[in-house]
Amino acid sequence: MTRLVVLGGGAAGMSAASAARRVDPALEIVVLEATGFAAYGMCGLPYYLAGLIERPEELVSYPPEYFRDRRRLDLRLRAEAVELDADQRVVHYRHEGREQRIGFSALVVAAGGVPGFPPLHGLDGRPTFTIRAMEDAIALRALLDTGSVRDALVVGAGYIGLELAEALHGHGCRVTVAERLDRVLPNLDEPLAAIVEEHVRERAELRLGVDVSELLANRAPWPDVVVVCAGVRPASTIAAKAGARTGPGGALLVDDRMRTSLPGVWAAGDCVAPYHRVLGRPAFVPLGPAANKTGRVAGTVAAGGDAVFAGVVGTAVVKVFELEVARTGLTLAEARAAGMTATATDVVSRSRAKYYPGVEPLHVRLVHEAGGRLLGAQLVGREGAAKRVDVVAAALHGGLSVDDLAAFDLSYAPPYSPVYDPLTVAAQAAQRVVHEAAA
Ligand SMILES: Cc1cc2nc3c(=O)[nH]c(=O)nc-3n(C[C@H](O)[C@H](O)[C@H](O)COP(=O)(O)OP(=O)(O)OC[C@H]3O[C@@H](n4cnc5c(N)ncnc54)[C@H](O)[C@@H]3O)c2cc1C
Repeated sequence: MTRLVVLGGGAAGMSAASAARRVDPALEIVVLEATGFAAYGMCGLPYYLAGLIERPEELVSYPPEYFRDRRRLDLRLRAEAVELDADQRVVHYRHEGREQRIGFSALVVAAGGVPGFPPLHGLDGRPTFTIRAMEDAIALRALLDTGSVRDALVVGAGYIGLELAEALHGHGCRVTVAERLDRVLPNLDEPLAAIVEEHVRERAELRLGVDVSELLANRAPWPDVVVVCAGVRPASTIAAKAGARTGPGGALLVDDRMRTSLPGVWAAGDCVAPYHRVLGRPAFVPLGPAANKTGRVAGTVAAGGDAVFAGVVGTAVVKVFELEVARTGLTLAEARAAGMTATATDVVSRSRAKYYPGVEPLHVRLVHEAGGRLLGAQLVGREGAAKRVDVVAAALHGGLSVDDLAAFDLSYAPPYSPVYDPLTVAAQAAQRVVHEAAA
């Protein structure tokens, strides 16, 4: 039997299945997807909730028929894998209420992530959502469209929580964001997170360092809806139970060809911990671009081709109301927690030439080693952060230093940047720190 089974029809799974088809036109490829949707832009769900995107179908890259007819992928929706027998090479799954089994010669596990849901008291039957599947968003949007939701509580002030706060605010709700920690965005260093916090406070009620259950008890019958955005953990249980080795956060450990420790089993996307080039070891960084790329590598190799995943550097960007918030590499806190002798250089530059209308401040933090090796960057501003972070991502990919970044030939025109780009300004400031320390 030559059959590839892909577990999960999200970004990683559908990339894997499509890549496998390109390698082997004759291979039987079966995709098991637990929900009723496959191959859609999960990252677009907040914008669908906000009403910027009218119909959920607009988020779907291709309909199921396209995959079945054009790519000859046997895509089975509402087919939930429940157990993997790695020795027998069999997946047990539930499809339309029936227990089924399917054998494979190669398996790609691409089950994504499971949303965190902390124990909460006082929900009292209120509509409560997590946003990790199209069905979740469709149900929440239907509720919002009834016009009955005035007060919304978002639990968690990570990037998805803040995106949801903006979406609900855009829908006309009074939004409260409640967070157990005493800060927003734990994946930014505090000075940068504080800028975001101030911005959010102007648009939503922010309750930091609170016990959400207490908040619910004290303010009953508020709110009309609760949206829990309390992080994500890798959906690695089925493969782990079958014996696959796990690493950071319980994510599956893979090599650079996305092979797990089980023969004939590959894995990709949010359920794996790929190699982190700055840390020099695997890390759990569940984000879209890596899910697509690791899926492609896993599918290519599982079908008999060859490909290698070069690793991540932890680049992420998020729109928080009017702010662009971007990070790559390691924050100062992350670098120090990893045992690195790291330091940070902060500058406040400008998004455009200072005389050009619409110029905005741009906060840049570079994180680097005492010797000058770049470790990371964070950028926050109303414009100019989102794509500029990618320059530093490229520098990190290449293992470059603040000297290299200062020397980059970056573009300039008054509407887009000052003549010294904010990254050049930050890199020059970091050079002074590095060279003074060396003197
Ligand atoms: C609201 C939101 C906004 C986001 N915004 C961004 C962003 O702006 N930028 C960014 O880089 N990343 C963003 N992400 C993260 C990004 O969406 C994920 O990294 C990406 O979707 C991961 O792809 P994946 O295929 O690994 O997992 P998923 O997309 O979760 O796909 C996994 C699939 O496997 C299925 N599945 C799970 N278990 C089983 C089973 N047992 N049997 C069968 N099928 C199963 C699931 O139903 C799911 O369809 C966002 C995530 C969310 C939730």
